[in-house]
Amino acid sequence: MPDKLALAHVPTPIWRSAALDALVGTEVWIKRDDMTSGAESGNKIRKLEYLLAAAVDDGADTVITCGAAQSNHARATALVCATLGFKSLLFLRTPDPGNPPPLTGNLLLDKMAGADVRFITPAEYAQRADVMEAARAELLQEGRLAYIIPEGGSNGLGALGYVDAMREVRDYLDAGYAGGPVSFDAVVHACGSGGTAAGAVLGAARWKISDKVVAVAVCDDRNYFEPVIERIMNESRGLDPSLTSTAELVIEDRFKGPAYGVATDEQLRFIVEVTKRSGLVLDPVYTGKALFALAGIEKKPRRALFIHTGGLPGLLAQPDALARALED
Ligand SMILES: *Cc1c(COP(=O)(O)O)cnc(C)c1O
Repeated sequence: MPDKLALAHVPTPIWRSAALDALVGTEVWIKRDDMTSGAESGNKIRKLEYLLAAAVDDGADTVITCGAAQSNHARATALVCATLGFKSLLFLRTPDPGNPPPLTGNLLLDKMAGADVRFITPAEYAQRADVMEAARAELLQEGRLAYIIPEGGSNGLGALGYVDAMREVRDYLDAGYAGGPVSFDAVVHACGSGGTAAGAVLGAARWKISDKVVAVAVCDDRNYFEPVIERIMNESRGLDPSLTSTAELVIEDRFKGPAYGVATDEQLRFIVEVTKRSGLVLDPVYTGKALFALAGIEKKPRRALFIHTGGLPGLLAQPDALARALED
């Protein structure tokens, strides 16, 4: 098995709220991966435990990655790199790099962590693997060794973090902490780059958590994600041959809203309602859309394990949208 650093505060609790069950219309057991750490919290730190172990093994001094301007993955990477003593170089997508986005939310934290932030256009971002490889080659000229992490930390190595998360759920249930179920009718989570889905599909089967994983797409669609997730799963199996079985993967792509990072008014009001009724804070980019989907699908799993993958800084970068939802 690949090396792994201990970065996340685990096991994360499984949390319930009767008011939330009523709002969503089914039993929702929330795996609080928004509590995997402090400001670096969320699902990405589980992937970084493997990815940064590989960077250490390589003898790298710099970590290069990419994402949207408000990428949770980039922020988690920048913060953990600061802790571990890596320099970080982030290629962030923005419509007009000459007119960069405000320093709020994740982006503010990236800069505070000392990341070298370089904005690139969506067209350049489409070539991100080449962009990152060119930066790595340039650093090598200066005698620096960089380790490249793909978008979202989503490759076979990073996805092992979510196989481990499913094992953690198994141990948690077996210890009786959740006080009831031994498994779930579905694991439900937001899907942006596919690594969480790949790990959950393999881990849910391996650790008998559920026969089904519902990945709620927040961008792209089923046709895009199916081969992406399949490729990541194959890579993971190459690293851990014990991952022979898979849960059924359902890619739910009807709830992504107007665009990546943009929620509908109804979704924003839902996020506010969840917080009002239960104290749980979702985010408008990922988790809000995913739980909104669970509340909206026709055939709901009777008992769902919802992975709260984090994303609070992304919410804090959208105060106007949330303020609008508070008004009506
Ligand atoms: C990145 C992210 C996701 C999606 O995970 P992927 O593995 O990229 O599909 C979900 N929720 C939050 C808050 C994220 O930051």
